[in-house]
Amino acid sequence: MGLLRTLLSKSITDTTGWCEDCAQLVPAQIVEHSGAIWLRRQCPVHGQHDAKQSKHPKHFRLMESMLEPLPPPILEHDIAHAKHLRGLFIDVTESCNMRCPNCLIDAKGMVSGKMPSLDETIEQLKAILPYKPVLYLTGGEPTLLSDLPKWISRLTGLGYDVKLLSNGIKLKDFDYVKMLYNSGCRWVLLQTDTMDDESLYALRGVKNTSEIRQQAIDNLVRVGMNIDLACMVDSNFNMTDMGQLIRMGFDTPGVRHVSLMPSRRLGRGLLTTDDNLLDEIEMIAAIDEQTSGRIKYRDWVMFFAAMHAIHRLTNDPDFATRRCFLPLPLLGDSKSFHPATRVSGFLKNPRNLRAFMKMASRGGRAEAASWSERSLLISIETFREPQSIDVQDAARCSRYYLVDGKVQMACHRNVIDRPLKRAEREKKLGRPAKPVRLPAGVLLKGDGRVTVEG
Ligand SMILES: [Zn+2]
Repeated sequence: MGLLRTLLSKSITDTTGWCEDCAQLVPAQIVEHSGAIWLRRQCPVHGQHDAKQSKHPKHFRLMESMLEPLPPPILEHDIAHAKHLRGLFIDVTESCNMRCPNCLIDAKGMVSGKMPSLDETIEQLKAILPYKPVLYLTGGEPTLLSDLPKWISRLTGLGYDVKLLSNGIKLKDFDYVKMLYNSGCRWVLLQTDTMDDESLYALRGVKNTSEIRQQAIDNLVRVGMNIDLACMVDSNFNMTDMGQLIRMGFDTPGVRHVSLMPSRRLGRGLLTTDDNLLDEIEMIAAIDEQTSGRIKYRDWVMFFAAMHAIHRLTNDPDFATRRCFLPLPLLGDSKSFHPATRVSGFLKNPRNLRAFMKMASRGGRAEAASWSERSLLISIETFREPQSIDVQDAARCSRYYLVDGKVQMACHRNVIDRPLKRAEREKKLGRPAKPVRLPAGVLLKGDGRVTVEG
C-alpha cells in the first residue's frame, strides 16, 4: 500500500518537515495523491509519513503558482537579512486569566525561554537596528504585566510601533485603556471569536464574556485605538458567525482588520480533531454564504495575484505571498461592502494599495486617511500542525519571535519549539506538565463534534 501510494504520488516541491518521533528536521516533499495534498516526511530512522496539507489540490496548486521564491533564511543569530523581518512577537508574561481549551501555547510554564526585562528587550532590539519591526506584545495575557504601560511608553518612545494582543478582560476598565493609549499604544489585537456566550465559553473556558468584550471594544473606540478583531474559528461553534463579525467590524469605528484563524491541534488543542479541521476553502465558502455572495473565491485569488505582482515589482516583504496567509481588503459599509479587488481604482492605484497594506500591518498610520471609503482588511491565516509544517514555507513569513535575544520564525516557535519544551518538562516531572481538560459541560463526541451541555 505504501509503495503503491509512493508510485501514484505526484511530487510538487521539495522542502523540510519535522519528524515527531525523533524531533528532528527531516527532508520532505509536497505531494499529491488520493485527491489531497500531503507533506511527505522522510526520516532516516522513522521512515516515511504523510500529513495532509490541503483537501483541495486545485486551489493549492493555483496558490502555489503565485508564491514568492524563498527569502534568504533568517537564522537564529543571523541578522544580516533582517530587512525581511516586519513583525516581532515578544512574550512579556506567562500568566493568563482565560482557560482556553485550545490555547496555542498552553500558557503557564509553556512560554519557553526566559521572560525578558524591559531593559534586556531594548538591548536585544539594538542587534537588529536600523530595522524596527512592529512589536507585538503577547504572552500569556500581557495586560497582567503590571508595568505594561511603561514597556509601551519606552518602546514607542524609541520609535517602535507597538501592538498589544489581549483577551480584553482588563480592557473593560476605561481608565486602564486610557492609560495604555496615553503611553503610546495605538493598536490592539482583541480576541473576539464571536459574540455568542455559549460558543465563547466552549472556545475560551470562561462563562459570560461577550459583555466584557463589548465593553472592551467600546473603551477602545472611545480613546481612538485601532482594533484588530482576532478570531479563532472552530467548525463546531463560531464558523457560522464570520459574516456577522465582518459586519460588526465595519460598524465599529477603529476596527481595521478582522483576522480569522481556523483552530488547530497546537498547544492544548482540545477542541480540534481530525474531523473538524477547517481548510481555508471551507472558510471562503462559508464567508461567501454568510455575506450574501459579496465575497467570492475569485476575489481572494485576485488579491493574492495582485500582491504577487506588486511584490515582484517592489520586492517589499509586506506583499510577499505565502501559503498560510490570505488577505482581502473590503471597502464600503456594513450593508454594502465589496472587495477592493472589484474596484478598478484600487488596482489602478498601487499607491493606495500600498497605503492600505501599511495601515494594516503598521499600526494604522496616517496613510489610511487617504481612503475616501471606509476600509476593512479581512484575512484567513492557517496555522500548521507539527506533522504538517512545511519548515521552508514558514520562512516566507515576515513575523518572528524574540526569544533569549535571538529572532526565531514564528511558526517554528509555536509549532515545534513549544511542544518540545513541553515534552522536556514532562520528562523532567515524570508526568503530564499540567492536567488539561475541556470546560465543564463541554463535551467532545466520538464523531469530532463538540457541544455544550445544558
Ligand atoms: Zn524520526
